[in-house]
Amino acid sequence: MVKTKYIFVTGGVTSSLGKGIIAASLAKLLQARGYKTTIQKFDPYINVDPGTLNPYEHGECYVTEDGAETDLDLGHYERFLNVPTSQANNVTTGRIYQTVIENERRGEYLGKTVQVIPHITDEIRRRMCILGETGEFDIVITEIGGTVGDIESLPYIESMRQLIWHEGESNALVIHLTLIPYLAAAGELKTKPTQHSVKSLLELGIQPDILVCRTEKPLNTEIKRKLALFCNVQDNAVIEARDLSTIYEVPLAMLKEKLDKVVLAKLKLKSIVEPQLYQWRDFLFRLEHPKSEVRIAVVGKYVELPDAYKSISEAFIHSGASNECDVQVKYIHSEYLTDENVAQKLKGFQGILVAPGFGPRGIDGKLTAVKFARENKIPFFGICLGMQSSVIEFARNVAGLTGAHSSEMDPNTPYPVIDLMEEQKKITNYGGTMRLGAYDCELEKGSLAAKAYGKLKISERHRHRYEFNDAYKNQLQEAGMRITGINPKTKLAEIVEIANHPWFVGVQFHPELKSTVENPHPLFVAFIAAAMKLN
Ligand code: GLN
Repeated sequence: MVKTKYIFVTGGVTSSLGKGIIAASLAKLLQARGYKTTIQKFDPYINVDPGTLNPYEHGECYVTEDGAETDLDLGHYERFLNVPTSQANNVTTGRIYQTVIENERRGEYLGKTVQVIPHITDEIRRRMCILGETGEFDIVITEIGGTVGDIESLPYIESMRQLIWHEGESNALVIHLTLIPYLAAAGELKTKPTQHSVKSLLELGIQPDILVCRTEKPLNTEIKRKLALFCNVQDNAVIEARDLSTIYEVPLAMLKEKLDKVVLAKLKLKSIVEPQLYQWRDFLFRLEHPKSEVRIAVVGKYVELPDAYKSISEAFIHSGASNECDVQVKYIHSEYLTDENVAQKLKGFQGILVAPGFGPRGIDGKLTAVKFARENKIPFFGICLGMQSSVIEFARNVAGLTGAHSSEMDPNTPYPVIDLMEEQKKITNYGGTMRLGAYDCELEKGSLAAKAYGKLKISERHRHRYEFNDAYKNQLQEAGMRITGINPKTKLAEIVEIANHPWFVGVQFHPELKSTVENPHPLFVAFIAAAMKLN
């Protein structure tokens, strides 16, 4: 077994340069070269995890198999690598401090003054090495959230410096992702912000090994040389990262720029096999050469920030490519959807997805969208709150349970067809207390779900407090609702379908979290296939 090597990815000049995509693309290339690679993200905010964050703050909260609520970049890691991540892949400042403070309360620091250096930095370093020490990975890539120069990321940079010093030159390296802005007035690309950003790193004791430069225009040799000279990196370590039409082209662009080769040379690792990426290239070809087109409406209330539905929009890209179909997704604000305007707002869509969510705001619009899809026989896909909405709508408008609701939205409803789970009733804390992570589910033979999956036993990831209320099971079934997915342990209903409809599926779990380039999610694939038939 080779010794685990550590790669750090930092960001300079501005945020939103796509550190996660660069990290995931490099990991994909190293994986394709035969190295077991994982990626972890260290976030400098004080929330213990992003689970309590409003989606408007940081976009979607991504849930791992083991039930960790994490940063959405972990979704990119999984979609690219096709390997699940876990709690250990995402650490925040809040979690670091929580551990240190708990240690302090237990008296583990033996009366010492507890300080950022060494106690916080030691805890960061310990966590940076956890995945490496499992022996499961040859290479661990660590993405440091935030931008170099931020006060809050200082302890991470210091821990990284110590770790690199400890591991030695050829066992660890730093990739600095930076921006080379183009000044239209001057007609020039500018290197100065990058030089300053590298200076900030140098002040903290870090010499980056590789610069990955985001740019709108190609970097010529002269600019590359200038960057290399003033930032003190080798000529071949200045990598151009030009804007591309899809994030899924980035691994191939990085392969062309030889990012992986430069990394392997610096880490003194051999290239085991040349990356072929057959499946990846096939996916890209299908994505870029669609034979048909469908329009899908996604009804939700966090539409102002598309990152709030990141995994759903990526799952549409995967399932579109798999169907050789261009999936055009339009986000429809559920708060403004009414019985009066629904026909006009949802006109021309071949599929309607009602999105996950929390709280009463926008729920009526979701119910309206379900009714419209059900009555007009438009393929319907409900996820989590979307599934719960489909149960409420069916209860009210088909089973005759007037006023039926989820007790989350209306605690006094006469028919709580969606109700708080028993084990949730005693819980008072918000953070990390939902039903989270992977659970088994058994499918009914012949159902739409079983046809989509092509098997009867599945496992999917959850994130919710409320459930289908079994007390109404018989009434809803008699009215024509089918329960086609059941948790084998608790017998909870996880999937609902309705008859006499081309494709109507509601799922209590989040299938979007498991859709990857190499394994597009079967329910998304089937939903798009059903939508294509409506053309
Ligand atoms: N608010 C609902 C619940 O907690 C649905 C959650 C979701 O859509 N993720 O059960």
